[in-house]
Amino acid sequence: MLIGGCFCGAIRYEAEGTPFHETNCHCSICRRTTGAPFVAWFSVRPSDFRIVKGKPMRFDTTEQGVRSFCSRCGTQLTFQHAELSDEIDVTTCSLDNPELVPPKDNTRTSSRLVWIVPDGLPDYREARHSD
Ligand SMILES: [Zn+2]
Ligand SMILES: [Zn+2]
Repeated sequence: MLIGGCFCGAIRYEAEGTPFHETNCHCSICRRTTGAPFVAWFSVRPSDFRIVKGKPMRFDTTEQGVRSFCSRCGTQLTFQHAELSDEIDVTTCSLDNPELVPPKDNTRTSSRLVWIVPDGLPDYREARHSD
């Protein structure tokens, strides 16, 4: 069981199952919606993910992509794509223990900032699954 939530504690979640698609995403939408140079994500099956406290705010960042965040403290929590209904992406650093789910690669590195030093993980210039 992976547990996490937003910074202020208003929203808490639980995720079961084995995480997959552990990645650092360098797309401009991740960057601009968090203010961070890139965002670490992992995925689980939607049926294995549940909010156990609070109600995240949801907003559409593209025609098919919707993100959720805490409306009180701003922590971004999830990403879902309309055409990928079998997965929900969760921000790794909203976990209580992000060390449990290290990234395995980098995604959207065509958008990576030039001052990010490559970390030696495999790079995928575009999305392996849509952001
Ligand atoms: Zn919060
Ligand atoms: Zn992204």
